[in-house]
Amino acid sequence: MACYNESQDVINLTDYLIKAQAFHKTIRIYAASTTNLVETAREIHDTWPAATAAFGRTLTATLIMGALLKEDQDITVQIDGNGPIGKIIALSNAHGEVKGVLTNPHVHQSKSEGKLDVGGVVGRNGFLRITKDLKVRDFFTSSVELQTGEIGDDFSYYFVKSEQIPSAVALGVLVDTDGSVKAAGGVIVQAMPGATDDTLKTIEARIQELPPISSLIHSGTSPEKIVQMIAGTDVLIYPPLPLFYRCNCRRERFEAGLISLGKAELNELIDKGEAIETVCQFCKKKFDFSVSDLQTLLDKSS
Ligand SMILES: [Zn+2]
Repeated sequence: MACYNESQDVINLTDYLIKAQAFHKTIRIYAASTTNLVETAREIHDTWPAATAAFGRTLTATLIMGALLKEDQDITVQIDGNGPIGKIIALSNAHGEVKGVLTNPHVHQSKSEGKLDVGGVVGRNGFLRITKDLKVRDFFTSSVELQTGEIGDDFSYYFVKSEQIPSAVALGVLVDTDGSVKAAGGVIVQAMPGATDDTLKTIEARIQELPPISSLIHSGTSPEKIVQMIAGTDVLIYPPLPLFYRCNCRRERFEAGLISLGKAELNELIDKGEAIETVCQFCKKKFDFSVSDLQTLLDKSS
């Protein structure tokens, strides 16, 4: 599909999120197609297949949660199990932007039937922590124990346990034989107060029958269609939100980081006479600081 931004350029929307309400607004559905941005994340972090799937599922769920926020709010998701991938961190906001980082992108495990072993690389005995900066006085933070490390189950448990919202979460990433991302997406279905038993039974049955989300996206099924497969045709669908892997890092942030090292350390770096290269952990963008740049920072800090 296509849409227009403020300058009236046509943007091809391949990654986007649909919000919908059905059953007299007692059921909320969020469906997202994230193939391109998960591939971008794979290229930036050079993730191996099982890590691509774990990271992609986390980025997708974080984007959906970000889309529930208001204008200037943001969310940080941290998944820390005892598996070889280490820690996964993802940040998103209300504008459909996500970025993330993981401890070890070079992990890969398959299950016996050839499926990527996401639960195995993430592990259990750990937590899923959500921090929301709602731009009020305090941050909202809540952690739950990892259930399976498959990510979807863990988010579903989080919604029930921490936000008291019964939720079904399906996340999927299909990785090609060359390691690139064939398809990625996710759907979250939430029951609001007032949802009847009949509605819940109908929704549960439809979710049970739903093919894996990554297969649906791969076969060209749109998020709107996925919403209708769950909610039927009597559904209120909101305008799509384009989704991106995007980092907002700027040179000034790294300057501030260098200044925060303190005068003694800056002097030491200058005495060494070598340029410094800083790298953004989220997008791998490099910012070089020559000796004279360092001297300017030192002068600024005094
Ligand atoms: Zn960056």
